[in-house]
Amino acid sequence: MADDRVQLASLNSAGPSTVGQQSLIGLDAAELEAVLSARGEARWRGAQIAEAIYRQRVKEITEITTLPAALRQKLAGEGWKIGRPAIARVFQASDGTERYLIEFEDTFPKAETAEAVWMPEGDGGESGDEGEERDWRRATICVSSQVGCAVGCQFCLTAQLGLQRNLTVGEIVGQVVAVLDRHSVEVGRDRVNLVFMGMGEPFLNYDNFMKAVRLLVVEVGLSPQRMTVSTSGIVPGIERFAAEAAEVRPKLAISLNAPNDQIRGEIMPVNRKWPIAAVIEAVRKIPLRPRERVTFEYVLLGGVTDGPQQARELGRLLRRTGLPAKVNLIAWNPGPGVEFKTPAPGAVEAFRAALAAEGIAAYLRQPRGREIYAACGQLKRTVEG
Ligand code: SF4
Repeated sequence: MADDRVQLASLNSAGPSTVGQQSLIGLDAAELEAVLSARGEARWRGAQIAEAIYRQRVKEITEITTLPAALRQKLAGEGWKIGRPAIARVFQASDGTERYLIEFEDTFPKAETAEAVWMPEGDGGESGDEGEERDWRRATICVSSQVGCAVGCQFCLTAQLGLQRNLTVGEIVGQVVAVLDRHSVEVGRDRVNLVFMGMGEPFLNYDNFMKAVRLLVVEVGLSPQRMTVSTSGIVPGIERFAAEAAEVRPKLAISLNAPNDQIRGEIMPVNRKWPIAAVIEAVRKIPLRPRERVTFEYVLLGGVTDGPQQARELGRLLRRTGLPAKVNLIAWNPGPGVEFKTPAPGAVEAFRAALAAEGIAAYLRQPRGREIYAACGQLKRTVEG
């Protein structure tokens, strides 16, 4: 038993210490089968456990009714648990956005938290299919990949935390499963998008991030084409990502935020290691699906990155890449302790129009849940709601 735990702990690499218990969430069907067969149980019971954790969203081993009661007791008695992280607090905004403090309970030396956000793009409370009342028809879940972040973007609240630790596979998948459960999402019927744009830089926790994605596709049943991962431009991560199979590869967003290396280097220190040209070169290696576009995110900082000449420069830069690109414009969200200005009224639309004149499609991302610190760059475990 002890040997198994060590072995399985290494499967959930770069995770926290746990106190005497081993989580099943984060293991794929083959690993669950291995747990069962190591105990002299039928391997196919592993698939039943996967179904219970990822599809039925069961929270306790004792509730996996497809397993014999004796086996449930045996696993629980040996210290196994499902280990899904808990939604410890909910902050609700008037636009329906919810920000969650997700608690990873048994981490040592203290309970760690990260954040996830639910953004319904609803239908105003019309009846859903089959007469069911719902106040949303499609929604987006923003997922964290690390506690804190080491990248240090100047405009970002998460950066102020520094990197506390990587999230494990189970903690990344578990956030999603917990939020799907909270909203009784029917995977396959409801339109749910995932964006890996919460706390952390997913490509600096690459193995756990990608294994979580595979579980979300294979076991939870979500489409990778409804997932987008955002990176600040970690070139080795983009190159690994380019080699992932299309069946499990999310779409890519580059958090660009400036039209040239000089400004980008000032607001994103990561640019000094991997300048824009190196990032673009790595992105080119991704075999895009038909009609797939690369998203470039651009936070408009008042008086820093939001001028018309920067829009033209950005348009020319993206045109020169030859990539099928679109730009998501985000007016900077204020936060305590970050010294930037929101763009002046009209500056955002003028920026979008200037990009359009350069032939680049740009969309304005509406700030969601700004008053609860759920908007982009605002995730910092802010407790006031
Ligand atoms: S914007 Fe993203 S990559 Fe940059 S510091 Fe914030 S969380 Fe990290």
